[in-house]
Amino acid sequence: MRLLHGRPLAERVNARTRERIAALRGKGVTPALAVISVGIDPASSAYQERLLRSGTSLGVVVMPHALPGGAKERDIGTTLAALGSNASVYGMLLLTPLPAGLDEHALVDLIPPAKDVEGVHPRNAGLLHSGRRGFVPTTADAVVELLKFHEIPMRGQKATVVGRSYVVGRPAAALLLHEDATVSIAHSKTTDVASLTRAASIVVVAVGRAGYLTGDMLSPGATVIDAGINVTPSGLVGDVDVESVSAVAGALSPVPGGLGAVTTALMLRNVVTAAEQLEVKR
Ligand code: NAP
Repeated sequence: MRLLHGRPLAERVNARTRERIAALRGKGVTPALAVISVGIDPASSAYQERLLRSGTSLGVVVMPHALPGGAKERDIGTTLAALGSNASVYGMLLLTPLPAGLDEHALVDLIPPAKDVEGVHPRNAGLLHSGRRGFVPTTADAVVELLKFHEIPMRGQKATVVGRSYVVGRPAAALLLHEDATVSIAHSKTTDVASLTRAASIVVVAVGRAGYLTGDMLSPGATVIDAGINVTPSGLVGDVDVESVSAVAGALSPVPGGLGAVTTALMLRNVVTAAEQLEVKR
């Protein structure tokens, strides 16, 4: 079975981003990303750390705004509005999951679409689902970019995405459709997920449960993209049961080492795109 490593693709994306940052800095512009977290989520904290490390090495300023788990929606909204009108902030990322009781949609609406580098504002989501391109959720983007990089054909292929969240599953399905795959989406109410995954030559799993996807859910030779990030006592793992899947799949993106680095690279690239576009308008 082939491993679909993400690092070489991330390095390629970062090399181009570095050039674009140099051009921006030449004009006196420093791309900056505000990362807003509410409470503590282990997977999100790991992502923020990666953004800080990679941002520092590339020259993107990553500014964490950590709000306490008990923060009121009004106060989070005030923070988002202030960052939205701060001219030195070019990208805004609201880390999810949010603590229960907060209205994620209402908060996301407060991110200006031009700074919505995770593509979650309804304007960017609407553009994606109407076949146009604004900012696209980065993990979903990474799924398709990783498939392209490893030359896995998508056109005419059956693809099944397990998970229908607005940040991973749905946008991944939309992007696969744009690549002319025939796409099914499974979720927690799907009665027979395995019948859909077995019918597919490309399976994307974004459920958030370690060991979820097992080899008996696949057809031989299938390509599996693992979007899961689960923090377990034995370290970071995806949603794939690696032992059984390795015996059946033709290719698998590892966790760690698959989508993670690509997602980080695409996020920082989006911040640079936002800075370029916002500066043109100023
Ligand atoms: P999420 O919002 O919790 O969505 C999980 C999805 O999995 C839901 O659509 C849910 O169905 C579905 N699901 C749950 N149990 C299932 C089952 N037994 N069979 C089939 N489907 C099932 O999570 P997410 O934000 O999409 O993240 C998914 C994974 O990707 C997590 O490991 C996360 O850490 C990782 N990840 C997240 C992000 C991010 O930005 N959030 C980025 C990269 C990676 P329902 O819709 O019916 O509930």
